[in-house]
Amino acid sequence: MTCSSAKNVTIIGAGLAGLTAGHLLSKNGFCVTLLEAENLPGGRMSERQINGLRLNTGARWIYSFSHEILDLVKQLDLLKHLQAAPKVPVFADVGGRTFKLRFGPDPRLFFDSLLTPTDKLRCLSLIPDLLRARFRVNPNQLLTAEQFDSESLTQYFAKKGLVRYAKYFVEPIFRGARCWNLADISPAFFLTTGAHMVGGHAYTFDQGIGLLSRTLSSRLNLVYGARVQDLVRLRSGGCRIRYTYNGQLVYREADLVLCAVEGTHL
Ligand SMILES: Cc1cc2nc3c(=O)[nH]c(=O)nc-3n(C[C@H](O)[C@H](O)[C@H](O)COP(=O)(O)OP(=O)(O)OC[C@H]3O[C@@H](n4cnc5c(N)ncnc54)[C@H](O)[C@@H]3O)c2cc1C
Repeated sequence: MTCSSAKNVTIIGAGLAGLTAGHLLSKNGFCVTLLEAENLPGGRMSERQINGLRLNTGARWIYSFSHEILDLVKQLDLLKHLQAAPKVPVFADVGGRTFKLRFGPDPRLFFDSLLTPTDKLRCLSLIPDLLRARFRVNPNQLLTAEQFDSESLTQYFAKKGLVRYAKYFVEPIFRGARCWNLADISPAFFLTTGAHMVGGHAYTFDQGIGLLSRTLSSRLNLVYGARVQDLVRLRSGGCRIRYTYNGQLVYREADLVLCAVEGTHL
């Protein structure tokens, strides 16, 4: 099948999801165009230069349990650029107390003077949830973690009497690395990542996490600065997409449209 005889597909959003879909569809002979609102690819797994500083837009690591992403890295011949996260100690300062952070369920927490003996005993109540997350949840399919998704992380720790553990060992990690508020995150993410990172690794690329999206985008047909407004299914089949580009309204038709943006963005 040649591209000209294949269906033409427009993908809205050139984050990792859109780029990966574009890569797979192109490989299978589809004519693919991606419409991306920003001027760079990668969305929340990318980098931006601001005043000479290179900043991540979101994701920093590829986890060893992210098998699909690692397969993609291999397909793109980028394994040689993958580097394990350096083992540098990270310190937090909470209420004037500076201490070494422990990532995930680290048994050394039981010797930490910031936690009282009661806190340490209460930490044991995390074990059944961590075991369920490890053996019953697929970390790449968070729908399988639905059982942990009925409350916020703040409520989860309060219920277990683990407010001090959350304050000293969880909150600094989420705030420091991600600007996330525990009241806005689901325990599903904490438990799943924590459980699956035991014995696991985190990787990045020697040229920054954006290498993956840069490589994918270099092989695809992308229109940057194209913010999609809406799309209409045509009676004749296919779809019409309306987007703004350089301040103008532009229309485009496609046999298939794939939305790879967060629901509220379109
Ligand atoms: C702070 C933070 C840290 C994270 N850390 C990690 C990590 O370490 N490891 C990990 O695996 N995951 C991590 N994640 C999650 C990971 O970044 C996301 O799951 C992933 O990048 C989402 O990719 P996506 O393509 O679905 O969405 P996005 O990356 O959001 O891509 C959507 C794209 O669509 C574009 N777009 C939006 N609206 C329109 C429109 N109307 N028209 C055209 N284009 C549009 C956006 O500009 C964007 O480029 C983190 C996320 C955040 C926020």
